[in-house]
Amino acid sequence: MSYNDFSIQTNLLHNKHKFDPATGAVSVPIQHASTFHQSKFDQFGEFDYSRSGNPTRQALEEAIAELEGGTRGFAFSSGMAAISTAFLLLSKGDHVVITEDVYGGTYRMVTDVLIRFGISYTFVDMTKLDEVKASIQSNTKLIYIETPSNPLLKIIDIKALVELAKENNCLTFVDNTFLTPALQRPLDLGVDVVLHSATKFLAGHSDVLAGLAVVKDEGLGKQLYKLQNSFGAVLGVQDAWLTLRGMKTLYVRLAQSQATAIELANKLIGHPAIEEVYFPGLQTHPGYEIQKSQSNGPGAVLSFRLKDEDAARTFVEHVKIPVFAVSLGAVESILSYPAKMSHAAMPREERYKRGITDGLLRLSVGLESVEDLLKDFELALEKVEITSNRSPV
Ligand SMILES: *Cc1c(COP(=O)(O)O)cnc(C)c1O
Repeated sequence: MSYNDFSIQTNLLHNKHKFDPATGAVSVPIQHASTFHQSKFDQFGEFDYSRSGNPTRQALEEAIAELEGGTRGFAFSSGMAAISTAFLLLSKGDHVVITEDVYGGTYRMVTDVLIRFGISYTFVDMTKLDEVKASIQSNTKLIYIETPSNPLLKIIDIKALVELAKENNCLTFVDNTFLTPALQRPLDLGVDVVLHSATKFLAGHSDVLAGLAVVKDEGLGKQLYKLQNSFGAVLGVQDAWLTLRGMKTLYVRLAQSQATAIELANKLIGHPAIEEVYFPGLQTHPGYEIQKSQSNGPGAVLSFRLKDEDAARTFVEHVKIPVFAVSLGAVESILSYPAKMSHAAMPREERYKRGITDGLLRLSVGLESVEDLLKDFELALEKVEITSNRSPV
């Protein structure tokens, strides 16, 4: 049996790096060295300089490559460093078709930075295949996908877009941060580059910033390696170790958080103070069938819409368990308010057009007891109802 025959749950623990061949240590050693002694006058060893390659970082890179079903993985100092470096596969004059509710940092990279280097873009609602088709130009070189999307958890049909990309000779990137290879493996669906903010579910403990990129094609792997080494935004060894450590429990964390998210979403959907619940695990979600066909689950992030800003404020001020913060994918539940956090820079009208209203809250479900979370939410929602039913003075 090769490691490839095991399920991801087993593979997270029993892989090439289950112990250190030099000592038998069952944790990957942290190799701080920046440079490596060359024992021959005219011959380099496997490692020469830590920007170009480091054993601890390499262990993480090999682990993520295997989990995603790729041939090569690359670790960066943040998710944005991974995404920005991958964009350097493009050249002046190229055009990008990109999902309209892409992560804010990616939006900024494309609209504020790449444009200055002659790389143009079109944002589209990627749930509408016709609109994606119509936005492809003769110089389109990349279709950039994020699914489920943030914060409305829209589902994009990865296979359909890969097909469209192949017909038009362009690459596809998928930001797989929300689901991780435990739930979705885009390379298996024909995607060229998978990107991660490993800061979120992969590392999982709100204690490290890290980014990853994985490819299957070896030529693309060589190009991306050259870019990683040229740009130099590599992940430090302590953070590579923390990410590896976090990944060992990825499967159980996600399974538990996802089960709780499903239960919460089903409770919230019937609540009178809640106008809408956005979660691809609900059968009423428009992307439910696609999500079922291309992933192993809906993940552990959901959003819900209260009446207005006052209702959202009342809820946040009364709910006790989640931390109120940006970010997601951690052991603790994280509640965030997109209108004033991730999408604060977006004009109100633009924000509303995208469905990110003043009453919208996003929840990343952690590992707390589902009963405690349900009770906590119920009590906070009661306050919302009382406050909003009070007649204005
Ligand atoms: C957080 C996040 C990023 C950026 O990652 P950093 O590690 O913060 O640089 C990119 N994409 C998605 C979907 C994210 O949630």
